[in-house]
Amino acid sequence: MKGEITQAQALLDRANTIVIVAHERPDGDAVGSLNAVAICLENAGKQVTAVLADGVPGRFLFLPGAERVQQTIPTECDLLIAVDCSAVERTGYDLESLPRRVDLNIDHHPTNNHFGVINFVEPHAAATAEVLFDLSSPLGLQIDTDVATNLLTGLVTDTIGFRTSNVTPKVLRVAAQLIELGAPLAEVYERSLNQRSFVAARYWGRGLSRLEREDGLLWASLTLDDKKSVGYPGRDDADLINLLSTIESAEVALIFVEQSRGKVKVSWRSRSGLNVARLASAFGGGGHEQAAGAIVAGELEEVRARVLSATRTILGSDSDRGGK
Ligand code: AMP
Ligand code: MN
Ligand code: MN
Repeated sequence: MKGEITQAQALLDRANTIVIVAHERPDGDAVGSLNAVAICLENAGKQVTAVLADGVPGRFLFLPGAERVQQTIPTECDLLIAVDCSAVERTGYDLESLPRRVDLNIDHHPTNNHFGVINFVEPHAAATAEVLFDLSSPLGLQIDTDVATNLLTGLVTDTIGFRTSNVTPKVLRVAAQLIELGAPLAEVYERSLNQRSFVAARYWGRGLSRLEREDGLLWASLTLDDKKSVGYPGRDDADLINLLSTIESAEVALIFVEQSRGKVKVSWRSRSGLNVARLASAFGGGGHEQAAGAIVAGELEEVRARVLSATRTILGSDSDRGGK
């Protein structure tokens, strides 16, 4: 770790133009971590471009730095940093369109495949924002109020308001320090977790009208037609999966979101200690033990049948229970 810090410091010192990228269909940890690194490096005198393949979702536009995030990735830079990505494909950009190999890979997914030249991957961290908080002092990066607000958003959203089982006393101490640095907890919570748009609520309605349950599994689907008819602009599920996972008797909640004809985004949430990351990996995705996702090729109905059947098999399997 120490060697990697020194190596990273040298790369940062030498670089002038820096590109930072997070994952497609970005969540609060992706946007918050991206903005946090961008602001820190800009304050250190670097020329920074922050990019997201899908842009910044409306509910994170209040974050400092969000207005400067681009969708077009520059063709050249001195240093490329990826945050909250378990694999380089998660950036949503074609490998050929990246300006160079990823130099710094900063993440917290146990399924991270160490695609960077230097990899800061901490699977026990609750969010990439926590990894960044820990790296800030050794890397000599200053956390001002704007950076703190972005990092706190990463922590609040990835832990769904400090409710997940990976919330340790240390996570709460980090959050407390970010609040001391000026991050507005109540506003962050309200804007990034509580509030949603009218169209997002109607989109939820479409999904909820198709809610199903069987043998400890609970699932809903969102079609391209739903997205179009309510006018929902994103390619994500508007966080409907987090609502599904609050419904009683669901050991595993799933959502199927049609992305285009023949491509479906699947999300799993497990409440019972079942390891859904392994299942997601088997479908070419990844994630955390209790929250994972994958993009699966096939028509919606066919993908749903295949994924439900595979998920049913882990319900009865002890090796997927509580395993890492
Ligand atoms: P989601 O279901 O998109 O809310 O994501 C749940 C967790 O799984 C997050 O930690 C994601 O980063 C991860 N994840 C989602 N989709 C993928 C994917 N296609 N490949 C790898 N990890 C994913
Ligand atoms: Mn994320
Ligand atoms: Mn994360």
